[in-house]
Formats: sequence, C-alpha cells, structure tokens
Amino acid sequence: MLSWLEISRSAVCQNYRIFKDMLAPLPVMPIVKSNAYGHGLEQVVACLKDEGLDWFGVNYISEARLLREQGFVGDILVVGPYFKDELLDAWTHKATLFLSHFEALESWIASEWKPKIHIKIDSGMSRQGFLLKELPELIQKVKPFENLVEGIATHFSNVEDVLDHAYADQQMLEFEQAQNMFEKAGFKKLLAHAASSASTLILQPSRYDLCRVGISLYGFWPSPTTKVSYHQIHSKVVGLKPALSWRTRIAQVKDVAAHRYVGYGLTFKALKDMKLAVIPVGYYEGYPRIAGSAHSYVLVDGQRCPIVGRICMNMMMIDVTHIHGPYVGQLVTLVGKDGHEEITASDIATWSETIHYEFVSRIHPAIPRNIVP
Ligand SMILES: *Cc1c(COP(=O)(O)O)cnc(C)c1O
Repeated sequence: MLSWLEISRSAVCQNYRIFKDMLAPLPVMPIVKSNAYGHGLEQVVACLKDEGLDWFGVNYISEARLLREQGFVGDILVVGPYFKDELLDAWTHKATLFLSHFEALESWIASEWKPKIHIKIDSGMSRQGFLLKELPELIQKVKPFENLVEGIATHFSNVEDVLDHAYADQQMLEFEQAQNMFEKAGFKKLLAHAASSASTLILQPSRYDLCRVGISLYGFWPSPTTKVSYHQIHSKVVGLKPALSWRTRIAQVKDVAAHRYVGYGLTFKALKDMKLAVIPVGYYEGYPRIAGSAHSYVLVDGQRCPIVGRICMNMMMIDVTHIHGPYVGQLVTLVGKDGHEEITASDIATWSETIHYEFVSRIHPAIPRNIVP
C-alpha cells in the first residue's frame, strides 16, 4: 500500500478524557468496532493503554480475541449479532454478549459455554432486542441463569440528526419500563446503558450507568445537528479533535495538453495546458469513487489540488498546474492538515454523499496506521 494513516495519540486521549471527565464516575465504553472506525484497532487500543479502561465495545467476537491478544483484561461487550457455534469462542475470550432474541436465548441455554450477557431491549429501533411484551417470557426463561445476566441495554434511532428528541424520550420510557420489569422479577441491579456519542453529549438522562462512545472518540461530532444541540444546551462546545490523517505521495507527474481528456469515461477535458499528478489511492483503498465527481481536492504543499477525472480502483489524478515544481515522491494529504489548509473526513463524506462514519470505517485495513504524538 502506497499511502498511510497517521493516528494522533494525543487526539485519541484528549477525546477520551473529554468523555471520562464529563461522565465521571460513570465509565466510558470506547467502541472500537470496524477496526476502530478505520483508525486501526491495534493502534487505538495502544493509544489508550495508559488510560486504565474498564470496557471496550466491539462488533465481532473475533474483535474480542484481538483485544485479548493485545493484553486487554477488562470487560469486552460484543454489540453485534453472533451464531451459536461462536459461544465457545466468546466464552474463551471472556466476551460479554448482547442477548437480543429468543433463538439466541435457546442456543445460549443449550450451550455448555455461557458468556455473560446484557439483555438488549428494542425500544423503537426495530433492529436488535426484545420488545416489552416479550419480557415476561424472557424473564421466566432467563431467571435460572440470573447470575450471568449483568446488564440491560438499548439503542437510540433518532438522536443524531434532529433537534427534537421526543422519539428518544419515548425510547427511554420503554427502556425504563423494561428495567423495572427485571427489578420486579427480583434480578439484582443490572448495568443499564443506552447512549452512544450523540445521546451521551446531548441527552443527559440517557447516560444511565455507562456510555458507549464511538465516533466522538475519534474526534468527530456525530453530526452538525448534534453540535448545534450541544451548543444550545451548554452555550459552548467541547474540543473534539480528529485523530486521523491520511497521506500518500505523488507517483507520477505529467503534462496534459489543452483539449485532451483525463480518465475513464472522458468526464474531464483539459481546457488549457495542465500539469497533473497521479496518486496511488483509489476506491479499493477506500477513497469513495463518487467523490471524484464533486469539487473534491487533496492538499499538496499546503494548497488545494482538485481531483480530476474519475477516481480509479487504485489511482486518481489531481491537478497540480498551480503547484511550484511538483515532483514524484512529494507528500499529498487526503485527510488532515497541510499548512493552513485542512481536509476533514466530513468533507470527503459530503463530497461522496455519505457520512463520516462510513468513509472512515471503510479505509482499507491493510493501509499502515502509524501512531504519531
Ligand atoms: C456503534 C455503536 C455505538 C457507538 O455509536 P457512535 O454513534 O459511533 O458513538 C454504540 N452502541 C452500539 C450498540 C453501537 O452499535
């Protein structure tokens, strides 16, 4: 791979401490699924090594194994689905699982290997979890294994992009009813959690006993609307700092004469004599192909260089006509700062009609991730 990511240790730690201080004494559960939102699971865990974390959240049981291989001895919650033949793996790696439906409950009861579980409540997302009306049956079936039930959780479906949080309020009401049903059935106090980054930031009552913080650990507001909401409540914002930069080098410099076309589909025609550079990153590496059709750019020598023509599988062409003496090997910034200019992951998400969550989590895992101060 001819590009690399730089992961800022100080940014990851600063973002983590913002939440740690905001929530103390409640614990923060950093969510490091999807290769730590593309930042590199190993690198992000290494950045947080000295922070004394109690929890990590992942999507796959295999990610719990990776955390154990890195020496993490705290609690790991697997938030994603799993199949019954994985229960042994989960148990071996001391992973805690969400229990989300009756088929999973039957497999868990039948299995010799019973990892700890958190009951997942579907309070309105209609993804994972039990409905309130299913709880009497669930409670009866799970009661004999009470000592293995550690938590109860839900997930919000409409916080990030709205200023009106009525739907989340309704979800909290249902979630609290679920908690009461377990309490009435004589369960010990379960660890209750519901909040991800957005709700942690702007819905204080949603914090319960633990917060599952993903996107903001990496320095992003979940959405511009979340930032507006936060500002409305607190009359200030917190200093989240993006942790990731993506850089590469110019692989080739070439002159393109006026009236010649650039790239597949002839979508770009030089109107004047130009100087282009080829850079070794395309959609295979995770740079969205459709970003090439917007007014997207990269940075060279602290200046914006438009992407021209269609983005290819492993390459793209950029306009360096205005750069003084561009050369093979010259540094190119796809995401991050160069001089006074900065490209954010949100910029690229906007150019490619998606969200920063998708863009960063799809940066190819084989690209080296280097930790920088
Ligand atoms: C991914 C995820 C989170 C983190 O969400 P962010 O918006 O990235 O903070 C929290 N909880 C669950 C269940 C998730 O799947």
